[in-house]
Amino acid sequence: MEYVDSLLDLIGNTPLVRLRRVMDGAEGEGHPLVLAKVEYLNPGGSVKDRIATRMIDAAEASGELKPGGTIVEPTSGNTGVGLAMVAQERGYRCIFVCPDKVSEDKRNVLRAYGAEVVVCPTAVPPEHPDSYYSVSDRLSSEPGAWKPDQYSNPHNPRSHYEETGPEIWRQTEGRITHFVAGVGTGGTISGVGRYLKERSGEQGGAPVQVIGADPAGSVYSGGSGRPYLVEGVGEDFWPDTYDRDVADRIIEVSDADSFAFTRRLAREEAMLVGGSSGMAAYAAVQLAHELDGTPEGENAVIVVLLPDSGRGYLTKVFNDEWLAQYGFDSGHGSAARTVGEV
Ligand code: PMP
Repeated sequence: MEYVDSLLDLIGNTPLVRLRRVMDGAEGEGHPLVLAKVEYLNPGGSVKDRIATRMIDAAEASGELKPGGTIVEPTSGNTGVGLAMVAQERGYRCIFVCPDKVSEDKRNVLRAYGAEVVVCPTAVPPEHPDSYYSVSDRLSSEPGAWKPDQYSNPHNPRSHYEETGPEIWRQTEGRITHFVAGVGTGGTISGVGRYLKERSGEQGGAPVQVIGADPAGSVYSGGSGRPYLVEGVGEDFWPDTYDRDVADRIIEVSDADSFAFTRRLAREEAMLVGGSSGMAAYAAVQLAHELDGTPEGENAVIVVLLPDSGRGYLTKVFNDEWLAQYGFDSGHGSAARTVGEV
């Protein structure tokens, strides 16, 4: 018989899929190869399953999380799903604190997994008592509560250093030349990026170039925290989980380009992914166009990590009225033009 004991056994080992149609001609023999690491194929539907298991295992081992305890975390949804999956299996209660910009769909998913959800206003600074950081601090100081804190927990980047990075190295047989990822907590880019740089350095060749994709307005691309609409990436502060030495470059992507590219991935590659995936893929394709036609471009293997599924954004990115309300185009034409002009 072929089965696993638990869904948790299926976390990781996500496939790499070649991007073709969205490459607009910069594809095939002699052109850069762009491979998407499709993280929505994790059992909880996102890259965050990886860090959830790792952070809980470590807290159990250190005694911070005790049997029957409560997990409290500020999360935009994906980390919550991962944590809720593990919590269910091991008998913990979960309370998640979300900013109000997080879609109702995502909050309902958390509730469906048996978690409690507290919604906080986005339009207040982090130190405000109603901010989602403050509320989660208050809840996590109650007896029996433990806050994983994906923004400072070293097991967040460590899970990517020990698992996601080696997977990508193995899957590309060490031929990866560039790694592109969106930056939220920075765990993904810091862990994967560091592993790939160290590993490629050992071989004596050029180290893997690490490129962050960031929403315009976020601190990683030099912004001041100005609001943007793409979810799960960008910050208005510098988290501990972000290693400032890893990224060689940050590509700033507008909401308009992120959303247009997210729609193209669904229509042209049948990849139904979220807005942060569209953002990262847009940056990866921009990079491929820059490298195309150069000696470096001929052997370039660019891996871009797509964090989650588009199912959680059907009423937003995939809704024409929602896009129009912010002045974004939902048509096929404009997205294709955006990339062609890069
Ligand atoms: N995309 C989405 C949808 C996310 O939820 C997150 C995590 N906040 C990211 C991208 C960024 O990943 P990381 O936190 O590892 O930087």
